Amino acid sequence: MKPTPTDPNCAYCAEGAPLDAFGIKICELPASKLYLFKEQSHRGRVIVASKFHVSEMVDLSDEDRRAFLDDVARVARALHAAFRPKKVNYGAYGDTGCHLHFHLVPKYEGGFEYGGVFEMNPKRTFLEPAEYDGLIAAIKAAL
Ligand SMILES: [Zn+2]
Repeated sequence: MKPTPTDPNCAYCAEGAPLDAFGIKICELPASKLYLFKEQSHRGRVIVASKFHVSEMVDLSDEDRRAFLDDVARVARALHAAFRPKKVNYGAYGDTGCHLHFHLVPKYEGGFEYGGVFEMNPKRTFLEPAEYDGLIAAIKAAL
């Protein structure tokens, strides 16, 4: 499948200020773009967004869907290696955004929201730039 046209109103397509509002780009993977979620109540929380502006997994070809899910698994493996969470939660919502992306949310035993559903944006934990850089370096080293 060829990349779909960029939607200038979509944070994952356009990046820039709309993306900066909630994320920091870490890198590109074969079928996705990886962002650190600025709200870090769950240490290491990231977003894996498809390189295609599609709403649903079923909008991707089999080949592109497998490549995207391979990226999701690769990132999850890196989060486990870098941060040793008890569990990684996965959330793919995007009711209004219409650009396929997964939230990967490390959960720590006894920690915030452990044993329950993660909030989309708890707006309680933001870090200093050097701390974001440290998380990004740890994730990149484990990818
Ligand atoms: Zn998009």
